[in-house]
Amino acid sequence: MAEQLTTRAVEWLMSPYDQTWHVFPGEQLADQTRPFIEALCGHSVPVKLVEHTPPDRLCPPCVRALGAWMPDVTPWGMGD
Ligand SMILES: [Zn+2]
Repeated sequence: MAEQLTTRAVEWLMSPYDQTWHVFPGEQLADQTRPFIEALCGHSVPVKLVEHTPPDRLCPPCVRALGAWMPDVTPWGMGD
C-alpha cells in the first residue's frame, strides 16, 4: 500500500519560518509518523506547517544539495 519510490523523489515546499522553498525528501513526506521533516540544507519544519505552493524563492543551499543528491539530474541547466 505504500507508495513505490522508484527514484529519489523530492518536493519543493515552503517553510513558514523563512518564507523560502526548501527541498524535502519524498521518503520523509510519505512517512505519516514524522512530526518534523528536514530539508536537504538541514532546515527542519513541522510537517503540518509546510505549504504546498509553487516555488518562488528557492533556498540556495537546497539547490546545491539537490544537485549533489541527484547527480543524474541537472534541473537548472548548470552546465560547465
Ligand atoms: Zn533549504
